[in-house]
Amino acid sequence: MTRKISAHYVFPVNTQPIRNGIIEINEMGEVLQVINPGKKIKEQAGVEFYNGILVPGFVNAHCHLELSNLKDKIPQHTGLHNFVGFVSRFRNTDEEIIRKAIEKADFEMQKNGIVAAGDISNQAISIEQKKKSKIKYHTFIEIFSLNPNLAEEKLLEGKKLLNEFLKHNLDASIVPHAPYSISRELFALLKKQMKKNSLPISMHNQETASENELFIKQSGDLYETFLSWGIKFSDFYPTGKNSLASVIDYLPEENNCLIVHNTFTSKQDIEQANTKLKNIYWTFCPNANLYIENRLPDISLFYRENQNCCIGTDSLASNHQLSVLEEIKTIQNHYPEIPLPELVKWSTLNGAKALNLQGKFGSFELGKTPGINLISGIDYKNMRLTDKSTVKVII
Ligand SMILES: [Zn+2]
Repeated sequence: MTRKISAHYVFPVNTQPIRNGIIEINEMGEVLQVINPGKKIKEQAGVEFYNGILVPGFVNAHCHLELSNLKDKIPQHTGLHNFVGFVSRFRNTDEEIIRKAIEKADFEMQKNGIVAAGDISNQAISIEQKKKSKIKYHTFIEIFSLNPNLAEEKLLEGKKLLNEFLKHNLDASIVPHAPYSISRELFALLKKQMKKNSLPISMHNQETASENELFIKQSGDLYETFLSWGIKFSDFYPTGKNSLASVIDYLPEENNCLIVHNTFTSKQDIEQANTKLKNIYWTFCPNANLYIENRLPDISLFYRENQNCCIGTDSLASNHQLSVLEEIKTIQNHYPEIPLPELVKWSTLNGAKALNLQGKFGSFELGKTPGINLISGIDYKNMRLTDKSTVKVII
């Protein structure tokens, strides 16, 4: 039994939006065909029609299920240097509470039309939920340490955790946390590890101005915070360059690299990164940036520079919800020049490509099972989302 599903617009993503388009799927949700009816919509028998636009299931390129229990715990607008302190203080919560929060967060994402996600993990606690979830996860096993003497030990810990996920048939890869939290020794070992395969990798980047300042002058809020924690910078030396440029040679050239946040990334950073890395996916989590730093990346710059961009929600520690739609509403409100079809592409196909899941997700293409979301509350005249736009999962 097949279904024909239609709406005011269908966004196949791999092609232009189709007015009154029809998607035919089988009982598995596999796309059989996408029909452009022209003016003959009324002649199509047995079509389910919805008010709004139909888009493929969303791909959340960056989240941290592990931090789901921190919802409403951390004050807003305190800056990244304070935020990292809050997170480490709250992490020692009862495991059962964290497990429950992870389950709830996973359901919230499903309800908000997310079908695949890149999830940062420092522990094995999310495995149980990921195994039974409808969401397809790629787990980024994140490691960090500024102590060069601990480099081998940290990588070994990462490999052990990686094997836990692989044992349960979950996709995973080992990745660096951020430019400022990895010693050169650990970065060198990591690069070898990352180059061994073609798996996607991820790194937080330029989330605060003091991250660049640390690398340029070895000073600033982030530096002061780490010093106060007793972290030694004996192995560290200022490079005189922004943080991304300082560590770019430690990232593997061929892997998909999800570079996350980019709140203080310049045009020069973008150009330089592109000369070194072949498959960059700039990942934006605007609501988390507003929560933590009350500032947004220059997302319009990345659009003008024709970069591959993705959307993430980050965690409930720095967001009020886990909704890709809410993220692109925020982008559209601040950068109205970025067209809706482009934002939908970032939220679907680009995320799927970044996570190597484009064979199944990201677009209404023959043979894929991407899921179907209905976005309603659209301003059709300007083809824009409104504050009233909501998402509903159709399949
Ligand atoms: Zn993050």
